[in-house]
Amino acid sequence: MTTLPTCDSMSKNFITVEEALEHILSSVQCIKQYETIDIRRSLGRVLAEDITAPFNVPPHRNSAMDGYAVKLSDISEQEKTTLSLVSESFAGHPYSGVVQAGECIRIMTGAVVPDDTDVVIMQEHVKRTDNLITVSNQHKLGQNIRHPGEDMPKGSLALEAGKQINSADLGLLASLGIGEIKVTRKPRVVFFSTGDELKSIGETLDMGNIYDSNRYTLFGLLQKLDVDIIDMGVIPDQQEAIEKAFEDGSKLGDTLITSGGVSVGDADFVTATLEKMGQVGFWKIAMKPGKPLAFGKINNSLFFGLPGNPVSVMATFILFVRPALQKLKGLSNTKTKQLTAVCDSHLKKKAGRKDHQRGIYFQDENGTLHVSTTGLQGSHVLSSMSKANCFIVIPKDSGDVQIGEEVTIYPFDELI
Ligand code: AMP
Ligand code: MG
Repeated sequence: MTTLPTCDSMSKNFITVEEALEHILSSVQCIKQYETIDIRRSLGRVLAEDITAPFNVPPHRNSAMDGYAVKLSDISEQEKTTLSLVSESFAGHPYSGVVQAGECIRIMTGAVVPDDTDVVIMQEHVKRTDNLITVSNQHKLGQNIRHPGEDMPKGSLALEAGKQINSADLGLLASLGIGEIKVTRKPRVVFFSTGDELKSIGETLDMGNIYDSNRYTLFGLLQKLDVDIIDMGVIPDQQEAIEKAFEDGSKLGDTLITSGGVSVGDADFVTATLEKMGQVGFWKIAMKPGKPLAFGKINNSLFFGLPGNPVSVMATFILFVRPALQKLKGLSNTKTKQLTAVCDSHLKKKAGRKDHQRGIYFQDENGTLHVSTTGLQGSHVLSSMSKANCFIVIPKDSGDVQIGEEVTIYPFDELI
């Protein structure tokens, strides 16, 4: 990690979502530890080195069709030409003989095109009688022939470091004969919840208690990112316990995430402990939901102190933690995917904070995206996240959104 940007000057004022993200990303450096793994285990992992093609793919000239390999010079200008069929080239069984003038070869898709031939005529365009074929004069040099290296020439860049391996890449690597690749080690992410009101599943709720939902939300969000997860549970609001949790958590992982207790001016143990232990800034971000965020470094771990409200946890995770973890993993692209949709609801919004309202989008029969609100937008209304399939993102300085206006959405598909 580089030296943290100083945010002291901003701690008393609001900073924008974009400023916060820029500060965060400039503090994160890609993990410099790697492992070499079987390609079948590499789906979703981030490639740590460029892959160049060790040979041409495809390796040989081959046919794109089932048909007949002929010489263009044999096809006369007259309407029809008759050629004699002398042999065959099947996939995996090439014809190694010579093709003389006036001769042709039966050929199947993927089979080696004999050197002496330069045209493949698809079987539907040929009239065959025993060992004679009749063809028209409407054929071009090289037609239906795939050339060596057409897909990937020898020495070309097949996959670039920083790419997240997908299913196509697995096949591509196999086509190059590569069975193992070097990937970046998965980030280790530690998290815990703070708050004396929190109980874990299985415990009884007394008056004033609620179940800890943030740890489960975070667990899901982190699983989506394919990182190693260490759940430290609920830490009570006691000075010693909190200090120990920060100390242990920051040593266990590359990143430590907590929820709750980070509101600016909060006189609780969390902020007090962080101020003592870490290089941490307490920010007020001009966003909704999720105004307070603590970010920095404790020991060698990145630290995110997310707000406590369940929707705020998800919003700040998606906007800040996710891109940071993507960068930590070595991904070259950390941008959140955004689309434009026509808003079918009237949305209330006060200027001053960038809003991330919960929406449901769909595509109409003309292909246009539409979005409508899920209803109640409080940062404690976790059901709004569960109903939604996107955030409706309204710029900081905008007011209400009218029905029919175009809005930006962040689809949840990859996010939650
Ligand atoms: P705080 O930021 O600690 O003041 O918390 C803000 C709100 O979020 C309060 O209503 C808390 O009860 C709630 N909250 C904090 N942590 C959790 C959690 N882990 N699960 C569910 N709600 C929480
Ligand atoms: Mg609290």
